[in-house]
Amino acid sequence: MQQPRKLYVKSFGCQMNVYDSQRMADTLAREGFTETQDPAEADLVILNTCHIREKAAEKVYSELGRLRKAKQEAGADTLVAVAGCVAQAEGAEIMRRAPVVDLVVGPQSYHRLPELLRAAGKGERVVDTAFPVEDKFDHLPAPSRAATRARGPAAFLTVQEGCDKFCTFCVVPYTRGAEVSRPAGKILAEAERLVGQGVRELTLIGQNVNAYHGEGPDGRPWSLARLMGALAGIDGLARLRYTTSHPRDMGADLIAAHRDLPQLMPYLHLPVQSGSDKVLDLMNRGHSRQTYLDLVRDLRAARRDLALSSDFIVGFPGESDADFEATLELVREVGFAGAYAFKYSPRPGTPAAGHGSQVPEDVKSERLKALQKLLEASKAAFDKSLQGKTLEILLEKSGRYPGQLIGRSPYLQSVVVTDPPAAIGDLLAVTITEVGPNSLAGRAPAPALSRPLAAMEA
Ligand code: SAM
Ligand code: SF4
Repeated sequence: MQQPRKLYVKSFGCQMNVYDSQRMADTLAREGFTETQDPAEADLVILNTCHIREKAAEKVYSELGRLRKAKQEAGADTLVAVAGCVAQAEGAEIMRRAPVVDLVVGPQSYHRLPELLRAAGKGERVVDTAFPVEDKFDHLPAPSRAATRARGPAAFLTVQEGCDKFCTFCVVPYTRGAEVSRPAGKILAEAERLVGQGVRELTLIGQNVNAYHGEGPDGRPWSLARLMGALAGIDGLARLRYTTSHPRDMGADLIAAHRDLPQLMPYLHLPVQSGSDKVLDLMNRGHSRQTYLDLVRDLRAARRDLALSSDFIVGFPGESDADFEATLELVREVGFAGAYAFKYSPRPGTPAAGHGSQVPEDVKSERLKALQKLLEASKAAFDKSLQGKTLEILLEKSGRYPGQLIGRSPYLQSVVVTDPPAAIGDLLAVTITEVGPNSLAGRAPAPALSRPLAAMEA
């Protein structure tokens, strides 16, 4: 009988990669692979990589260096595969720079992993970065009940891939290809299966998720709002989220969905990148500062308790002090509940990389520091505003100490609950008692007393 083989997958970058890693693990489970958290005992290591910034891409080569050393020292015959966007963008370069790599596989070819591995197992060095005509989702198997359970009650579901927006700083349109939406019927079937296996919260993901326009069961294109309306009808599905959105695709029906669908969580990641119209134009974002602010106003009108997070790039070529000040001003005006800020990283082949007025590194660092400080204060103020409030928490995993469970608030904050009268997978009303920098703590309201407390104390 064939020995069970061990698989170690490491994901870098965005949630799309986390989802793709799970689907690769599901595909390889059929080939007899079980997952391990220890690369040293793995028969196959997959690095699922990110190419969005230079640092992210370089991390892969450092990791490959470590793997080569460990493999030599152990005299092991572990197979090493590189997947994801670095694989797509630099397939041949990876093979040249990292002889430890046996297989390079781009994001559109994961369904071919079993056959590619068989070739690599025979000593071939394999590169597959094609954009095949067949839909990989038709060939990627569903997770087993045990795999879904192990991943917890909150799951990702890819509904859309690729991007046609061509922001001048971004590699996604080149590494992930053109925008493609999955048919709504297939998404609904996958969601129903996941909910049947115990999932309570689904995050619909896509590089440009609100550009979703998949074919509906009626043969007509469905918008993301329509898709979420149908998903909200699945019995047992308590929460819905979607990410990442582009301001240009926030249609009226999507804004209305925030008002009409109680399952849709009141937390939206809506990247703005800059508060300066000049920079937004240079970035080819296709929206202005004012249209972003108008969207924020409309979204908050639709759902009063909606909180926002965002992405920012500082030091984009041509960004002046005044442009950067406009970004700080926008942050003050919106009051984000969380956000990511990045230094602009020139990516080979993107228009902005060749722009003449690159911002010096020390200026980028200063601006990043100032923006992060402001964003942290904005997040802290939001977190603090929840002190004493009662929020519904989805319990997701055990905490560090006995009796503790950790869950997520509607705003994606980690909430530690001690001795909850509930289990993982349950939704529980929790009153927030402590607000820390990385998580909140709370308690479930005490069970109802037979007499009012005042009467007992009297
Ligand atoms: N599709 C999303 C959007 O339209 O905003 C974001 C996709 S990207 C994976 C995530 C974030 O990485 C972007 O919002 C942007 O802030 C950042 N990013 C992308 N390219 C970058 C670059 N060249 N340098 C620095 N940050 C970058
Ligand atoms: Fe990249 Fe997002 Fe712009 Fe598409 S919309 S090019 S994924 S930043």
